[in-house]
Amino acid sequence: MEHLFAVDRSLGSLAKWLRVLGFDTVYDPNISTSQFDELLEDHRVLITRTIKIQKAFESHNRVFITSNFLLEQLKQVVDHLGIKLADIQPFSRCIRCNLPIEEIRKKDVLGLVPDYIWETHDLFNRCHQCRRVYWSGTHTERSLKTISQIFNSEKANSP
Ligand SMILES: [Zn+2]
Repeated sequence: MEHLFAVDRSLGSLAKWLRVLGFDTVYDPNISTSQFDELLEDHRVLITRTIKIQKAFESHNRVFITSNFLLEQLKQVVDHLGIKLADIQPFSRCIRCNLPIEEIRKKDVLGLVPDYIWETHDLFNRCHQCRRVYWSGTHTERSLKTISQIFNSEKANSP
């Protein structure tokens, strides 16, 4: 199932992580509540931990975050919406721009990444907006561990 999100400005790390998981997530720390309303449109799930915003968008599909810890926040979103490990496309989106990253030929990133990275990797992706180049090592083992932790509770509940 495809989920699109709008994350309020108090939850920057969570927004970044929803992008890491591959979800289209709008987040802008510099906007007002009324501008947020425009960003939200109709189809985005609102994610907030601010009671004022929670109340302002009562008719909207939303997840109210109660934890201060990133991992717990991610679990709250995943559990609330029934997101499964198979639903995510980790590392497919630019965490800065929220745009899908695109595969780029190895020869075209020569000089754009450190030499040792170019020599030891074959698959590269690039965000065509900010031009940031991503490669498999961009995502540390720690990220993969976090992903498995997010979905651990789901595994524990399945037969
Ligand atoms: Zn980008």
